[in-house]
Amino acid sequence: MTAALRLYDTYQRKIRAFAPLAGDEVRLYACGPTVYDYAHIGNLRTYLFEDVLRRTLEFFDYRVRHVVNITDVGHLTSDADSGEDKIEQGARREGQSAWDIAARYTRAFQADWRRLNMREPAVWCRASDHIAEQIADIAEIQRRGYAYLTSDGVYFDTAKLKTYGHLARIDAAGLAAGARVEVGEKRRATDFALWKFSRPGEQRQMEWDSPWGVGFPGWHIECSAMAVKYLGAEFDIHCGGKDHIPVHHCNEIAQSEARHGTTLANFWMHGYFLQFDRARMSKSGGDFLRLDALLERGYEPLAYRYLCLTAHYRSDMKFSWESLDGAAAALCRLRAAAQAWGEAGESVAADADAATVADFRREMARDLNTPRALAVVWALVKSELPPTVKKATLLELDAILGLEVGRAPAEEAIPAGVAALAEQRAAARAARDWAAADRLRGEIEAHGFAVDDSPDGSTLRRQRG
Ligand code: AMP
Ligand code: ZN
Repeated sequence: MTAALRLYDTYQRKIRAFAPLAGDEVRLYACGPTVYDYAHIGNLRTYLFEDVLRRTLEFFDYRVRHVVNITDVGHLTSDADSGEDKIEQGARREGQSAWDIAARYTRAFQADWRRLNMREPAVWCRASDHIAEQIADIAEIQRRGYAYLTSDGVYFDTAKLKTYGHLARIDAAGLAAGARVEVGEKRRATDFALWKFSRPGEQRQMEWDSPWGVGFPGWHIECSAMAVKYLGAEFDIHCGGKDHIPVHHCNEIAQSEARHGTTLANFWMHGYFLQFDRARMSKSGGDFLRLDALLERGYEPLAYRYLCLTAHYRSDMKFSWESLDGAAAALCRLRAAAQAWGEAGESVAADADAATVADFRREMARDLNTPRALAVVWALVKSELPPTVKKATLLELDAILGLEVGRAPAEEAIPAGVAALAEQRAAARAARDWAAADRLRGEIEAHGFAVDDSPDGSTLRRQRG
């Protein structure tokens, strides 16, 4: 018997059997990026987890309707309702319009998405394209008695919902009783903005008319409005990073309970964080690694994809260059093995090995246990199966791995900038300009490469750390 898919649901805090709510279609919503800056590789880890989830569902013969939003308005510098709109802040920082900033970073994000071989969602939806839907939802939430007005916006009244915060096991009443937090005009610390007014005297680039006054929607209402529009008021899986559990997703659920009487999704799934130097990597922290920084050092994007597969999505993962080196080397070995099997087996078509596929499937069925699934792949590599069978099996498993294992193993790529520096250094050495040669060596090292000199010339190799 083939293993049935079991997934961890944050709402119920347990791993349980997955089945679609209707038919064989899985409706999947993933909170997308806030496009005020480039995505860092931590953000990308979360989308990779979601891509693996989607590919697994497809491997289990479900059709998946995958919706990803683009947050281009309403996400303030604090996840609570204070601070500046991140997009407006980005626009000021870069001297461009908020619309241009959003368009530019959306393009960059989607380019990263494709480089990591993530499957294209059925729908990409932008918050600013769905203002009417959000206003209609807020009006209905208000009509049902779950909203109140303050001088700066329309707020959700979390005291009206007994279940508020269940996803994060928040004790809202306890919080309120012992509250030392400054709530301003809010009635409770957990109340959140549905609509914010543009501040008097402030000229926002993104603002709209509404029944309550000119302003912009809160961050949470965009996701529930778009999710419901594209997937219905109760769909299968809602995902995001684990930081979304205590605020954003609790609030999406509250809005949906008030508006539709549902908790929005049957499963709530959360990817854990990528950590860099022990700290969580954050976009607002300023100092973060983009996928481009990896490419500049000569890594291919799929090496990062491999690295993410080595950790379970529900554990934090520490990033290091050593571990990325290991992932790049493993990927290269896998492709070299596949290539060798192809050559050994000529053109005989073979079926995949059913036992290996079943083992792999069983590991993925256990809440997407990718590290164990990779172990199955390496057991296949070491097995005594005929090469053509090994190759057919690996290609079949790659439907989930997404590593393009059929590709020729890449030579170590030397980025063009580093190659140019090496050429300049060779010229300096030929001219016996040792000071220039040393300076150029320093520049090459700053790009993460070491130079080894020998009587036959100099060679470049990637440096660790
Ligand atoms: P943002 O663009 O800031 O709205 O975040 C996009 C996604 O990345 C969200 O699902 C976050 O939960 C997730 N995320 C943010 N930081 C990290 C991190 N260090 N590791 C993994 N995921 C993250
Ligand atoms: Zn969201």
